[in-house]
Amino acid sequence: MNRRVVVAVVLFAGLLLAPIGTNVVADEQPLFGYSAESSRAERRWEEKLRAIPSPDNLRAYMQRLSARPHNVGSPYDKDNAEWIAAKFKEFGLDTHIESFDVLYPTPKERAVELVEGGPKFIAKPHAPALPQDPTSSQQSEQLPTYHAYSIDGDVTAPLVYVNYGIPEDYEQLDRLGISVKGKIVIARYYHSWRGIKPKVAAEHGAVGCLIYSDPHEDGFVEGDTYPAGAWRPKDGVQRGSVADMPFYPGDPLTPGVGATKNAKRLDIKDAPTITKIPVLPISYADAQPLLAALAGPVAPESWRGGLGITYHVGPGPAKVHLKVKSNWDIKPLYDVIAKIPGATLPDEWVIRGNHHDAWVNGAEDPTSGMVAVLEEGRALGELLKSGWKPKRTIIYCAWDGEEPGLLGSTEWAEEHADELRAHAVAYINSDSNGRGYLGVEGSHTLEKFSNDVSRDISDPESKLTAWKRNQLHEIARAKSAEQRQEIRERADLRIPALGSGSDYTAFLQHDGVASLNIGFEGEDGGGIYHSIYDDFYWYTHFSDTDFVYGRALAQTGGTAVLRLADADLLPFEFGDFADTMQTYAKELETLSQKMHDDIAERNREIEEGVFTATNDPKKPLVPPATEVVPPHLNFAPLDNAVDAVVRSAAEYRKALERANANGGAVIASSSLADVNQLLIESERKLTTPEGLSNRPWFKHQIYAPGFYTGYAAKTMPAVRESIEQKQWLQADDAIVVVSRVLQDEAALISSAAAKLAGAH
Ligand SMILES: [Zn+2]
Repeated sequence: MNRRVVVAVVLFAGLLLAPIGTNVVADEQPLFGYSAESSRAERRWEEKLRAIPSPDNLRAYMQRLSARPHNVGSPYDKDNAEWIAAKFKEFGLDTHIESFDVLYPTPKERAVELVEGGPKFIAKPHAPALPQDPTSSQQSEQLPTYHAYSIDGDVTAPLVYVNYGIPEDYEQLDRLGISVKGKIVIARYYHSWRGIKPKVAAEHGAVGCLIYSDPHEDGFVEGDTYPAGAWRPKDGVQRGSVADMPFYPGDPLTPGVGATKNAKRLDIKDAPTITKIPVLPISYADAQPLLAALAGPVAPESWRGGLGITYHVGPGPAKVHLKVKSNWDIKPLYDVIAKIPGATLPDEWVIRGNHHDAWVNGAEDPTSGMVAVLEEGRALGELLKSGWKPKRTIIYCAWDGEEPGLLGSTEWAEEHADELRAHAVAYINSDSNGRGYLGVEGSHTLEKFSNDVSRDISDPESKLTAWKRNQLHEIARAKSAEQRQEIRERADLRIPALGSGSDYTAFLQHDGVASLNIGFEGEDGGGIYHSIYDDFYWYTHFSDTDFVYGRALAQTGGTAVLRLADADLLPFEFGDFADTMQTYAKELETLSQKMHDDIAERNREIEEGVFTATNDPKKPLVPPATEVVPPHLNFAPLDNAVDAVVRSAAEYRKALERANANGGAVIASSSLADVNQLLIESERKLTTPEGLSNRPWFKHQIYAPGFYTGYAAKTMPAVRESIEQKQWLQADDAIVVVSRVLQDEAALISSAAAKLAGAH
């Protein structure tokens, strides 16, 4: 069908179904949480809002914000915060800067040298400037390459290659008969958050850790390298934090409380999130001579990267000298907080944020997301001028100190924890943006809401809605007929759970505020992450070069904020949530059974002599040790709790259908204060005051970052991680805790359903 025919059909349908107004589908079905009448008004405001964001503005903001390096403590970090605050004020938002004082180490001495086993070699202290990239030469303002919160240390030891340096890799090393005790390990980036690598290395007795960017992951194996293409050049180095954030994020000295002037602080030597061994990042140009000087067994096939060498594991003969010494200073953070007071429900807060600090110039991370947030602020300011007033209070935030450890958002969310627990409806985060598909992750009570929003966003390249493009993309990627059927037939696309790695963490996992993380992604190469090459030149040559996806992000974030702030009934929904809890429970039961069967099978093979019979004496492998076969866990409490959630979700849906009848007369009746209050509390109910037993800062019992993954979520974390770590008694206890939380949630949903059914 050609384009003209499509247009004709749409026009005809428009005439047929929607004689009044221009939005065909819009007038058919009121927005979730709105009466027919309030939905019409809301749709007009939203359309107005989505017409405002301008690619030219986004580009100009980015050029200004990424003009100079702006890490925590730098002059341009403060300058940017003040400029962002002035912008929000100019747009008409009530704005202030809130400051905290945090521990922020910067490097004083660094050394990585090959001292034995190959030609003497010293790693470069800086990535080189490129003539065509004007900001890459601002060396006097660039932090040297380092890992924030590495402990100081000076060690010389044989080197061992540990692949990604995650727990499975150490199981493989055990089979190879190789110990890292007293050694320096070299790990490649990816497959875990970077701070996991020195943590696991230290747990296995290593004395130092190097992390390098293998070209297999984000260099020439993926595509042309910068400046010819988007991917990491040979000297590009990824900086980053290595603090143990899965234990707690934020200022290492003030866990659980805001890092205000007079806050009680731990001694640096007692701060548990600082690494146990020194760690530094290096480029692949600098990793190659070290890896080439390793002997010992050839690395297993899946461990081999993209360098033109045979990868060996070691240990040695390569011997490395690693030295790290930092200035352990307290530095100020500048969080920008901009408010629009709610006209009728000022005590219900809708919060939106992105960070403004970067490792260096940070055009992509975080500025490409920050500029969309700023442009949303301008759009909301424009609506205010044309007479719009939000029901609820809206708070726009530009966080400082995200890069070293989610510092600005965590300190703010800790300082204001009581207010947030009382008032926060939802937090919507972004953190960089590119071309491609709308990525949404978050709380499953908002899954339907986020699907609804993405149905109203136009994808700049395909002109489909962002929702439709995502659905077709998922069909293309699906691995089975069942998956494709679900994607085609389920009303909402599933959203992944949040782990960690950005500023939603404290809101969701410490304060229990329902959260979403949004951003377009999937079509850009990404080899400049956390390097001096993440800058305006790179972004405007290789990412969203015309800023149309920046506009789409501002439209998405703006629509979500407006819709939450104006809704009569908050658009929380529990059918998708219940469905997701069923999925998690089933996954855990399968995991537990699989662990049981795998261990039993391996024990049998050990007894049969499978490992000794298949051993090649020239490439010897140590047979695994026999393990106790795990007991069967009691999942009955969890199954019962999930059933209760499913039942209560059905009750709520029925009450909602009734409330939506007659143009949503009940929804328009403004008698829903009690129901909204319960909806606000629905995420809080998923937390416990005690938190997770091995890391009490994390209060959420459904979503947490993995203790050994860092970015990736572990759902029902207490149960899942106990099973993965073979702590069977704790697993049974954790099932009881999670079941109790879900029973309470079910009771809350039933009570919301009863109140909604009784409203008139
Ligand atoms: Zn970021």
